[in-house]
Amino acid sequence: MSGTVNLQSRVYNFSAGPAVLPVSVLEKIQQDLLCLPGAGASILEISHRSADFIAILESAKSGIRQLLAIPEDYKILFLQGGSRLQFSMIPMNLLRNSGQTADYILTGSWGKKAFAEAKKEGNVNVAWDGKEGGYSNLPMQSELRLTADAAYCYITSNETIEGVQFHAEPDTGNVPLISDASSDFMHRPLPIEKYGMVYACAQKNAGPAGVTVVIAKEELLTQGADDLPGYLNYKQHLDNDSMYNTPPTFAIYVLDLVAKWLLNDIGGLDKMHQLNQDKAALLYDVVDSSNGFYAGHAAKNCRSLMNVTFRLPNDELQSKFVKQAAERQLTSLKGHRSVGGIRVSIYNAMPLDGVVAMRDFMQEFAQQNA
Ligand SMILES: *Cc1c(COP(=O)(O)O)cnc(C)c1O
Repeated sequence: MSGTVNLQSRVYNFSAGPAVLPVSVLEKIQQDLLCLPGAGASILEISHRSADFIAILESAKSGIRQLLAIPEDYKILFLQGGSRLQFSMIPMNLLRNSGQTADYILTGSWGKKAFAEAKKEGNVNVAWDGKEGGYSNLPMQSELRLTADAAYCYITSNETIEGVQFHAEPDTGNVPLISDASSDFMHRPLPIEKYGMVYACAQKNAGPAGVTVVIAKEELLTQGADDLPGYLNYKQHLDNDSMYNTPPTFAIYVLDLVAKWLLNDIGGLDKMHQLNQDKAALLYDVVDSSNGFYAGHAAKNCRSLMNVTFRLPNDELQSKFVKQAAERQLTSLKGHRSVGGIRVSIYNAMPLDGVVAMRDFMQEFAQQNA
């Protein structure tokens, strides 16, 4: 089996998640899979209590801490259950029996799903809902109907399905801001001190499926009631340093490699952000200069750097677009089944070459079919 053959048969994968990983990370996994250096066994075989694994867990935490400049009073947890479980755990720990209200800013499909789970746990308030605009835009600060002493205010920093993304945080005063950053985690530096909690499943922008990263102020992780099921109480995970039960060791290992790639190969999140802006601009420029052939979904000032969403004039052209793109090894472009259209996911690990190939294809396709 030769590495070259594998590389040549790799497509440009624009999947929304699980999604593209850096080739150098995949190669490192391949190289060390049979025997993790020093461990005498595979990462898939060693105990989560072994010194080798604990070193990986610590390295993943410190890599993320360094990349996002996370202050000391914030803790990092590695959990399972995906972002979906966070939709429930957040209100279970912070809203249930609190007598308070939780504010939700709804900017797309994932936020609505999180809101539906929160309703089961206590009083919720929709601080803003983008429904009227078809979830194509974001609120201005003055439009938010915030609750003064809310338990927290919840946003989805990047709505993966609609392709709208916050480029700055809403101001929630003393109310902890909680962000589902599943699809744009570590795509830019974040002012963490503006947040109470930021969480992300890894499989969009940071690693494989199986691990969810929770970064939170320590005080938010200790509020869960003792009668919550153990796994669902953040405190258990905090007290046990993410080893309350067997953590997803392989996923954490890959997350660590991705953090190292961001630090050493990319050179940090400022550089990553610049690259992400450059990549996204290539595609949005084609949309904007296509005389409406490509109709972008998101309002210009809320466009996602991660998920570029647009429609073609009709379904027939859309199918043709997807088919011809696949012939050029540009794959997974169909929009989410709930909204249709085209979605080009260009996460951190999508190389510039892939986006250039996509841009060239979009230009040619418009010339031939407009
Ligand atoms: C994918 C996604 C989720 C769901 O993640 P799971 O790990 O499948 O539970 C939640 N929020 C956002 C923004 C997502 O992109």
